[in-house]
Amino acid sequence: MYRTHTCGELRLANLSQEVTLAGWVQRVRNLGGMTFIDLRDRYGITQLVVDDSCSAEVKEAASSLGREFVIQAKGRVLERSSKNNKIPTGEIEIAVSALNILNAADTPPFTIEDNTDGGDDLRMRYRYLDLRRNPLKEALMLRHRMAQVTRNFLSGENFMEIETPYMINSTPEGARDFLVPSRLNPGKFYALPQSPQTFKQLLMVAGYDRYFQIVRCFRDEDLRADRQPEFTQIDCEMSFVEQEDVLNIFERFAKTLFKEVLGVEFDYSFPRMSWHEAMEKYGSDKPDLRFGMEFNNITEDVKGKDFVVFDSAEYVGAIVAEGCAGYTRKQIDQLTDFVKRPQVGAKGLVWIRLDENGIKSSIDKFYTPEELSAIATKCGAKSGDLILILAGDRKHTLAALNVLRLEMGDRLGLRDPKKFAPLWVVDFPLLEWDEETQRFYAMHHPFTSPKPEDIEYMDSDPGRVRANAYDFCCNGVEVGGGSVRIFDSALQQKMFKLLGFTPEQAEAQFGFLMNAFKFGAPPHAGIAFGFDRFCSLFGGSDSIRDYIAFPKNNQGRDVMVDSPTTIDPAQLVDLKIKLVEEE
Ligand code: ASP
Repeated sequence: MYRTHTCGELRLANLSQEVTLAGWVQRVRNLGGMTFIDLRDRYGITQLVVDDSCSAEVKEAASSLGREFVIQAKGRVLERSSKNNKIPTGEIEIAVSALNILNAADTPPFTIEDNTDGGDDLRMRYRYLDLRRNPLKEALMLRHRMAQVTRNFLSGENFMEIETPYMINSTPEGARDFLVPSRLNPGKFYALPQSPQTFKQLLMVAGYDRYFQIVRCFRDEDLRADRQPEFTQIDCEMSFVEQEDVLNIFERFAKTLFKEVLGVEFDYSFPRMSWHEAMEKYGSDKPDLRFGMEFNNITEDVKGKDFVVFDSAEYVGAIVAEGCAGYTRKQIDQLTDFVKRPQVGAKGLVWIRLDENGIKSSIDKFYTPEELSAIATKCGAKSGDLILILAGDRKHTLAALNVLRLEMGDRLGLRDPKKFAPLWVVDFPLLEWDEETQRFYAMHHPFTSPKPEDIEYMDSDPGRVRANAYDFCCNGVEVGGGSVRIFDSALQQKMFKLLGFTPEQAEAQFGFLMNAFKFGAPPHAGIAFGFDRFCSLFGGSDSIRDYIAFPKNNQGRDVMVDSPTTIDPAQLVDLKIKLVEEE
């Protein structure tokens, strides 16, 4: 037997027991005649002691140990004379009677400590060493716990976990597909699923009225901190339900996760906000409700005073930064630079300050103190506050004001990662107009049902049609999203037409689904949660990478196994693929 206990297990209650432990050498300290070894495994750290009374073999083995050696130690549990109250095993130590080096180790390229000296790249290259560190171990434990609670909850609600294939063809979630060439069908490709969307709908047709899957999805998109080319969804679908049923059950699901994983309880129903209201008040379809600072639309209030910036603006919006009247010129300049960065794209920043000296602004030339006061009153600002105003076309100004609001939230410490403000965003538009290609795209995906009362506008005014679609958001993060589905093939065909598919294209791509709908498709609806994001939200981190055992870097590369990589020309010949020479 390699071990009788783990390194996190022994306590005073085990005094005088003969035990065997195995693990990695965290640290060796030589103090005169005594050697202390911190032995680590997944469960914790236990101190081993080798002293003069030990055999020559034990002493020799102890003197040859290095960091991260894998060893096995046998000995008796003793009470420590100087206790360490920072670790659960800190009251005991093991007086070693036998020490067996199972494997030597090269010196690791960075320290295996909570605060390591290794840079990002190095740690990614040696991910298996990084995973030995507590912060990553805890992140993966959190993930495991969340998966466990998810499976328990959904199984308890009669959901069946069913696997769907990874080698399929294109699923329309709006990203590019990752493709897999088929050797047996030269010139043909599988696509990896962007989601199991069509398959879960087919499972509804098959009668499996409650399905879920913790499933990998693949999207070939530009990467950001909260995106990975392969990521995991908690994917769910239900039959014979309406939007309300889905929201209810998955609100209970989210509450169960919060409670069982974090001990966080909500004694209220999650707020619901229409997409329109979210955009109007927060400039975002995933508003961070941990703090207020709602937008004030002052477009009509500021016109007609010869200030061209406002006069020519489609939208003028203001937020109130409470208690920020004392902001210095320099701080305001910084904010101005911040909103003028290309990523934010505002033309400038107008401010109004209210303090004991009265009201002052960057637009004093155009507005009297009374007029400024009226704006301040409209925004609900009081003495001590700073009003920040952006102007321009509606879409971009709302987006820029959202970034500014979040920045002010950060600066004012209003975005505590330990606080959670979940909500449902509902009533999304069905379609989104794209200026560049001059056509509509499905805002969610093409299987999303329009609201029945809006179907009449599908021909005359498609842009105003709202969808039975919903997102679950928390702290400014879209954690999940779904919709009630179209289950009528005629309506589905109409939708494809709106999206610019010819009947032939629709048939070629989705014929299998529309055909299936002819054989008794039940009304159905579903949702998918971004599991990695859910984990990072619970862990209080912005990066989903920490919650994935082997993630890709910002270039979509795995630098540990070095992928993607060129392949053997013989493989290309097998696949009948010829690489196009780059110019
Ligand atoms: N398949 C959708 C997505 O990945 C979720 C859903 O509609 O259930 O966003």
